[in-house]
Amino acid sequence: MVTILSPPTAPWGFYAHRLINRHAVFSLPPEMIRFYKAHLEYISENAVNPDRRRYAVKGEAEKHYLDADAYGDSAVYYLPRYWQEAVEKFGEDTLRAHGIAPWSTYQTFLQLIRAFESKNTPSILRISADLGHYIGDIHVPLHTTKNYNGQLTGQYGIHGFWETRIPELFADGYSFFVGKAEFIPQPQLAIWDALVQTHEAVDSVLRMEKSLNAQFPENRKYSFEERGGINTRVYSKAYTQAYHHLLDGQVERQMVAAIKMIADMWFTAWILAGQPNLDALAGHQSDIPSEQEWKPIDELKGIREHDN
Ligand SMILES: [Zn+2]
Repeated sequence: MVTILSPPTAPWGFYAHRLINRHAVFSLPPEMIRFYKAHLEYISENAVNPDRRRYAVKGEAEKHYLDADAYGDSAVYYLPRYWQEAVEKFGEDTLRAHGIAPWSTYQTFLQLIRAFESKNTPSILRISADLGHYIGDIHVPLHTTKNYNGQLTGQYGIHGFWETRIPELFADGYSFFVGKAEFIPQPQLAIWDALVQTHEAVDSVLRMEKSLNAQFPENRKYSFEERGGINTRVYSKAYTQAYHHLLDGQVERQMVAAIKMIADMWFTAWILAGQPNLDALAGHQSDIPSEQEWKPIDELKGIREHDN
C-alpha cells in the first residue's frame, strides 16, 4: 500500500534533500553524533540552502550539476579529476558552462575541514548542510547530463518526476540504514566515483520513462493536486508508481548512497581537522545566522530551469 505524505508546506522538491541530510547524522560516531543531533533540525532544514541561493548568488547554479556528456559520450570516465588540470584542459568558462559539481563539492569539503579546525559552530553546521546538498545532487542521474530535464528527448518534466515526485510518494517506505561512517582516503576521487555511478543510471532513467509513456494511457499520465493553494498538474500516482516499479529501487539506492557518502565525508573532514572535541561546542543554536533571505536577481532567473 502506498502512503501519501502530507503535502509539503515548503517549496516543491526539497523533501529528499532534507531527508538525506537528516539520515546521514545517524551514521556518525559517538564523538560527532551528539553535536549533529543537537542541531538535527538545522542540518535538515538548511539542506536546501544551496538551491535557495541558485538565483541569488552568481556562480552557485553550476555547483549543482555536471553535464558530463557535453564533453562526449564517455567523457565522464576521462574528465580531469582535479580542478587545476580541468581548467588547464578546458578553461574555466567552459567548465562553468557545463557545471562543476564534482570539483566544487570537493572545495566545500575542504571548507568543512577548515570550519572544524577553527571550531566555529555556525560554519561547521552551515557547510555540513551545504556539503550534504551537493553530495545529494551528484547522486541524481539527471544532474549529470545535458538532457537534464528530458528536453532533448521529448520527456520534459522528468527531472522533478525522478527527484521529487517519486521520493514524496515513496521515500517513507525506503530503508535508510547505512551503517557506520567510514574514512575516505581520497575524497576527490570518491566524489568522481559516485558521479560516474550516477551517470551510468541516466540511460535507464530516460529509457524506462520513454517506454512507460508509450504504453500508458495518455489521459491517466497526469493529475491535479493542490500545491500551496494552487491547483497544479503533477504526474499521476498511477504513472509515478509504474515508473517507480520499472526503476526497481534505483531512487532508493541513490538516496542511500548519498546518505552514506555524506556521513563518510563529514566524518573524514572531522578526522582530517584533527578530531576537534565537538561536545565542547554544542549549544550555540542562537548564533547561527538565518540564510533564508536570498533575493533572486534578474540575470540569474531562468538558469537551468526545471520545475523545482
Ligand atoms: Zn541542488
